Amino acid sequence: MRILGIESSCDETAAAVVEDGVKILSSEVASQVEIHHRYGGVVPELASRHHVEAICPMVEAALAACGMEAGDLDAVAVTQGPGLVGALLVGFGFARACAFGLNIPCVGVHHLLGHIHSVFLEPEKTPPVYPFVALVVSGGHTGLYHVPDALTLELLGQTRDDAAGEAYDKIAKIMGLGYPGGPVIDAMAAEGEGGRVFFPRAFLDKDGLDFSFSGLKSAVARFLSEDGGKTSRADIAAAFQDAVVDVLVSKAFLAVEKMGCRDLAIVGGVAANRGLKKKAAQEADMRGIRLHMPSPFLCGDNAAMIAAAGYHYLQAGKVLGLDADVFSRATDPGRVAVRHR
Ligand code: ATP
Ligand code: MG
Ligand code: FE
Repeated sequence: MRILGIESSCDETAAAVVEDGVKILSSEVASQVEIHHRYGGVVPELASRHHVEAICPMVEAALAACGMEAGDLDAVAVTQGPGLVGALLVGFGFARACAFGLNIPCVGVHHLLGHIHSVFLEPEKTPPVYPFVALVVSGGHTGLYHVPDALTLELLGQTRDDAAGEAYDKIAKIMGLGYPGGPVIDAMAAEGEGGRVFFPRAFLDKDGLDFSFSGLKSAVARFLSEDGGKTSRADIAAAFQDAVVDVLVSKAFLAVEKMGCRDLAIVGGVAANRGLKKKAAQEADMRGIRLHMPSPFLCGDNAAMIAAAGYHYLQAGKVLGLDADVFSRATDPGRVAVRHR
């Protein structure tokens, strides 16, 4: 079964063709990073307009890259939410019109479930075994989920304020490094020494699975203004990254232990972080846990992960009705997949 995936929840317009939920035939991503760079974050109205410009070329490119025509498709899978409503509507409207015109089914995919399915798209790696624990760590979300099957997310804990990626982006903005902050700070941190400054780790309730990153962000901002340039920026970046990674890794493995799982997936834009990868791999080795982290091109937003998750919606017969709409928040009531555990 060949599924066209479409993603437009934030600042990437993406299209992909995936076979049977696991095999990427093509995956195209148009990033708007250059457009939002000078604003230090995503400007929703600009994002929507650029999705309108990019959506047709992306879908055409995805079909051309695997030598297919629209008539060869079996279904369309599109991100339904969460995300920016204006941005989502572009992909959603396009996908539904496309499926209607081709007389094939269309499914609406939960973006975070899409991120989780990115670990099933690695032909060289063994996929996770259900039930597993997933840490979704991206620009808009930081949460831990128990994943009992392909279509269910049980929320175990989440950030009470900023997402981890958001903390990277805000620190980068303060340091004048532009948007997105993750890749730049990650690279700077590799040049620095984390032990020269200590930033607080918000473990909150020691036994709980919630996160908080806004205190860390303020601590770094305060340090930057008081230090007056004495400490190298690389050392500050490394100390900030150590604090983020410490909390993410310890909470993720605490969740794995609590749920009695053997598999942990770490997904989303921040999963591309080298410090996180290294520390999570060490911890997994030590505890005998199977760790699954996607290749960098599958960490950030892409449509292959949406098509991969969409395959399971189709198998379950969860096809969109004519009255379906997009949604903005991960836990909007009545949405498939997410429930509190
Ligand atoms: P969401 O998935 O929550 O709706 P999003 O789609 O905007 O949000 P992603 O595209 O998954 O998020 O990830 C983007 C985020 O990942 C940005 O905040 C970016 O700074 C961060 N990021 C990207 N690469 C790295 C890295 N190497 N280290 C840390 N953070 C990174
Ligand atoms: Mg993005
Ligand atoms: Fe995302």
